[in-house]
Amino acid sequence: MVSVTSRTGRIELGGGCRAWIAESGGWGMSNAGLITGRGESLLVDTLYDLRLTGAMLDAFAPVTATAPISTVVNTHGNGDHWFGNQLVAHAEIVASRGSLADMRQVGPAEMRALTGADSPTGRFARRIFGRFDHSDLEPALPSRVFDGETVLDVGGTEVRLIDVGPAHSAGDTIVHVPRAGTVYTGDIVFAGATPIVWHGPFGRWLAACDLLLGLDADTVVPGHGPVTSRRAVREVRDYLEFVHEQATARFAAGMPVMDAARDIRLGRFADLDESERLAVNVHTVYRELDPALPPLDGPGLFGCMAELCTGS
Ligand SMILES: [Zn+2]
Repeated sequence: MVSVTSRTGRIELGGGCRAWIAESGGWGMSNAGLITGRGESLLVDTLYDLRLTGAMLDAFAPVTATAPISTVVNTHGNGDHWFGNQLVAHAEIVASRGSLADMRQVGPAEMRALTGADSPTGRFARRIFGRFDHSDLEPALPSRVFDGETVLDVGGTEVRLIDVGPAHSAGDTIVHVPRAGTVYTGDIVFAGATPIVWHGPFGRWLAACDLLLGLDADTVVPGHGPVTSRRAVREVRDYLEFVHEQATARFAAGMPVMDAARDIRLGRFADLDESERLAVNVHTVYRELDPALPPLDGPGLFGCMAELCTGS
């Protein structure tokens, strides 16, 4: 039984599980979780800067005073799920192999370069990331890497880590607590916002949704958005299928990628926040259909979204 005391902040989920839900939506405003057993806790994700991570750790402090954080799991390698690691560097930090590769590729320095660029892409990046402080971050990378699936014992509580990626990113770990019927999904689930397929393939993400739908877990803590249920997993699945189908039809008709992104009408998905992510998603579909298409780096992908936002 989920007792939701407020829509944001610290939320008690029962069975030793808690969620930290970001105070608002938007790019980089991510969630975290705490799983507590006898005398120790596991933290699911840190946040995008030290201020946000510190506030989250303070909110969990009444619990962690007697059950300290012994393990941190970073669900994936996007900065909004690990840039705060240095505040919990005393713990063992665990991530999938793919996630570690992503962290090595894009750290705080790369984000500072992106938001500092004197270009339309830089302006877009400053608009969406300007609220975060990436100035004094020292990357604290995982000290333990796993492949596929692993099971942890957190003070007598079984915690299953399953890497369902590559999908959203190069490695996407879901954290399942069978005893509590709770799953922390990282960015495999965006609740109320547009999923973004940085890596793909789409098929892996759809399979990840099916795995979540078949899991014995009624409580779903998404990477972004409020605590939810399987309904949000189905919504993500529907969006991904829709975009894949729409982009594939336009690829077959010979339409250039950005024309396709501008041409797609989102219909019932138009209300999802950050709809500009469609540009990246269409690009990922095109790359699946034509592996000869050159990949875009981070700034290139943000440039496509900036272009879709401004309609230029
Ligand atoms: Zn995220």
